[in-house]
Amino acid sequence: MSHRAVSSRTAEGGSDDAARPTASRRSLLGAIAGATAFPFSVGSLAHAHANPDADRDGDGLPDGGEADGSLERAFADTFGEQFEGLDPERRDLLIDVRYVEGTDVSSGTKASIERLFRRQGIYAQWLDYPDRYDREAFERRYGSNARALLWGGESFYRTEVERLFRDAAIQLIVVPGRAHPDYSGLVYSPVTDALGGGEDGNVNGFSVGNRAVVADRDDPREERRLVLHELAHLGLCHADDPDNRGVMGSGDRIDLTDREWELLRRRVDNVRDSSGYDVLFRPCLREQWLDD
Ligand SMILES: [Zn+2]
Repeated sequence: MSHRAVSSRTAEGGSDDAARPTASRRSLLGAIAGATAFPFSVGSLAHAHANPDADRDGDGLPDGGEADGSLERAFADTFGEQFEGLDPERRDLLIDVRYVEGTDVSSGTKASIERLFRRQGIYAQWLDYPDRYDREAFERRYGSNARALLWGGESFYRTEVERLFRDAAIQLIVVPGRAHPDYSGLVYSPVTDALGGGEDGNVNGFSVGNRAVVADRDDPREERRLVLHELAHLGLCHADDPDNRGVMGSGDRIDLTDREWELLRRRVDNVRDSSGYDVLFRPCLREQWLDD
């Protein structure tokens, strides 16, 4: 299967997952954003709904659950020895990866992303979900549509991901991508399409914060860049570092800037899925049409 080069889009100055919106599309979505008019930041919303239990390390996992072993048992039961345990003094970030049959994230990509995160004070742990999803059944049911995968009542995320894991780990779904020759190896995002981005709305990957989808990549460098970028969306938007607009880990150097790391460290607790806000209220998606 031919795969689009992530770098080709990066070179155009956009991020690897979605092109910038056009003016006309932006006004359409600006109307939606105006209608919702949230008077507070999503960060404060998340905190308002956060578990009252203390969270000293700021990773979204209540210290109680980390200390008494209840969370650990649940993760160990499913993920076995991959799981290194939790530490209430440490910012843990659990990456629950779900693979459709035939897809993979290479061990090199996992190791280098883990190294980057840990060096920056975020103890990332890769947790490969033990079952692989049957490709035919998966594509029949969900296809390569970000909405069908990530949000909505019937989505993969709501249907397949256990509630506890939704609330305590980031979910990364790796899919083969579309078979259509014009969009092969891409994922359709209705949001990007409405914004006038991607290739007719088709993108390399898409994130709604605490869950993301990436299309499978054979090239290790493209894979690393794409996976880092979508994981970083847990706490970052494209424009969070004005000196690095639109890049966010997808540049020549596969890394975030100091300012981006600083923000991401503070927002690791976005991993919690308890806020109830829908995809339209995600700050990055709003920013994309409200910005410039
Ligand atoms: Zn992005």
